[in-house]
Amino acid sequence: MSDNQWAGMMLGDEAYAGSKNFYNLEKAIQDVLGYKYIVPTHQGRGAEHLMYKTLTKEGQYVPRNMYFTTSKAHVELAGGLMIDVIIDEAHDPENEHPFKGNVDLKKLENLIQEKGTEKIAFVNVEMDVNMAGGQPVSMQNLREVRDLCNQFKLKVIFDATRSSENAYFIREHEKGYEDTSIVDILREMMSYSDGCIYSSKKDCLVNIGGFLATHDKEIFEKTRGLVVIYEGLHSYGGMAGRDMEAVARGLREGAQYEYLKYRINQVRYLGELLNEGNVPIVKPIGGHAVFVNALKFLPHLPREQWPAQTLSAAIYEASGIRTMERGAISKGRDKNTGENIFPKLELVRLTIPRRVYTNTHMKYTAESIINLYEKRDTIPGLKMVFEPEYLRFFQSRFEQLSLP
Ligand SMILES: *Cc1c(COP(=O)(O)O)cnc(C)c1O
Repeated sequence: MSDNQWAGMMLGDEAYAGSKNFYNLEKAIQDVLGYKYIVPTHQGRGAEHLMYKTLTKEGQYVPRNMYFTTSKAHVELAGGLMIDVIIDEAHDPENEHPFKGNVDLKKLENLIQEKGTEKIAFVNVEMDVNMAGGQPVSMQNLREVRDLCNQFKLKVIFDATRSSENAYFIREHEKGYEDTSIVDILREMMSYSDGCIYSSKKDCLVNIGGFLATHDKEIFEKTRGLVVIYEGLHSYGGMAGRDMEAVARGLREGAQYEYLKYRINQVRYLGELLNEGNVPIVKPIGGHAVFVNALKFLPHLPREQWPAQTLSAAIYEASGIRTMERGAISKGRDKNTGENIFPKLELVRLTIPRRVYTNTHMKYTAESIINLYEKRDTIPGLKMVFEPEYLRFFQSRFEQLSLP
């Protein structure tokens, strides 16, 4: 966090109701994202819980540009099923499409026609799609999703967790936005939605916090009715006053162009070093992380030996760098058949904390992974020996197998 955020924490007003930090947070969200109504939550998944429970009925579908782990879990807990409607390019690590996070409008329309509008709970669009490699959605695509959903009278809910980084890519790659401020881009993006959920732990530069925000009074009233059961009063939602102040200040700081330029270029720097070392990574290099293609890194391992989890463990063992599996373990099992799902992307995410590391850390990271790549055929696979019921990537345990 910045000095400004830490200073804000000292001004925490811990009044149970009506803390002034809540009003600062509300104002920051109104200014930066343009939503009228906000409900604070302890983190992003708290907001997902309230939003998806409110909008989803048993047996309904939620189309989304690829899934995210906690989002999929909350849609399923609410009785729904998430269906992937991202463009095909997103499933190909080598494809250099600049907006690989885009929704495939044909896929979306076909799904609506096939199931009927009453079976669609809402349309969910993630910014800077995490599981695809931090890949942005274009403004044009957001506009087209909105138009299509208007035709069918469907609500559009964003997972706006990485919307500031997404806005940076719009400014960089989309004609007409070269000179637009990040805040103006953000406000236009959000104008194409009915509401959003947000994990503040990412683009708001804080360690804890989340919220949902909406233009829709009915969504607001319903979710505000639920927050008091699951999170806390509607003026803190599980956060301390000081934490809300840090989020309010962080949302504004994280939407500054100069900061985002430094941030995204640092991620790019790591990606380019790995690329020069021939390590197979997802292209284009995304907003918040570099994603290594584990299927190409460890081609000697079958999918059942969890190549991405194996690679993540091997990197930790070799260098002390903690990474994250984003492949079959994260995807989980089919809700109906109970079988493992093996998605096309089997990735290891090198997520870069914001405003923490120098480029020398990036160099050390790249060198460690390049060294490992050079002896990749000596890395044995893993066997899963413990699997929890939900979100297994957080708590499963593994044993190392021996090389054949
Ligand atoms: C982190 C994240 C969430 C969940 O937020 P938490 O604050 O970790 O609960 C939801 N969606 C996306 C895209 C995320 O990256």
